[in-house]
Amino acid sequence: MFISFEGVDGSGKSTQARRLAAELAGQGREVVLTREPGGSAGAEEIRRLLVEGGAERWSPETELLLFTAARRDHLERLIQPALTRGATVITDRFADSSRVYQGAARADLRQTVDQLHALMIGIEPDLTFVIDIDPAISLARGQARATVEDRFEGMGLAFQYRLRDGFHALAEEAPARVRLIDGTGSEDVVAARIRALLP
Ligand code: C5P
Repeated sequence: MFISFEGVDGSGKSTQARRLAAELAGQGREVVLTREPGGSAGAEEIRRLLVEGGAERWSPETELLLFTAARRDHLERLIQPALTRGATVITDRFADSSRVYQGAARADLRQTVDQLHALMIGIEPDLTFVIDIDPAISLARGQARATVEDRFEGMGLAFQYRLRDGFHALAEEAPARVRLIDGTGSEDVVAARIRALLP
């Protein structure tokens, strides 16, 4: 099974991805927990190129190509082999992040995102959990934890609301796969909402 977690920065998706991985591993399954951008040696190198430098370092188009290149390497080296041997793969972000960040919120490249995805990636998770939370809350959470300085920071609240709208639109587009999870409440409460939707 292939599961992705998505959401705005500070939504708690990484924590929930970790919790679910630990829970499924505790049931004796082989679980591969990974993240994007990154997740393989090559993709982690590309991540460095993406997050370092000023906001204007890459054009939106080049940025999309770098995210796609990182995803392709991640897929070839880690995700596909794990799925082939029957492992459960849980990834913190996948293609939906590009659909929303490069496709809608930061740039209006959705058509190009879809074309590149069809050409170079081709697969979708079986299930995607979008941890849905008011960006005002997630921004406060994000500021509370020590975050690495990166060129995507400081995008502001309006940007985070555009992201949230983008994730809501995706959930309407692909309702069987993309499930919105109320991200308010304790970690335990959010984890229980996720568990309730697992097959
Ligand atoms: O999820 P994580 O914090 O590791 O992501 C790193 C940065 O990359 C974040 O600031 C996120 O907003 C950004 N990102 C992006 N486009 C994507 C995926 C992540 O701008 N497709």
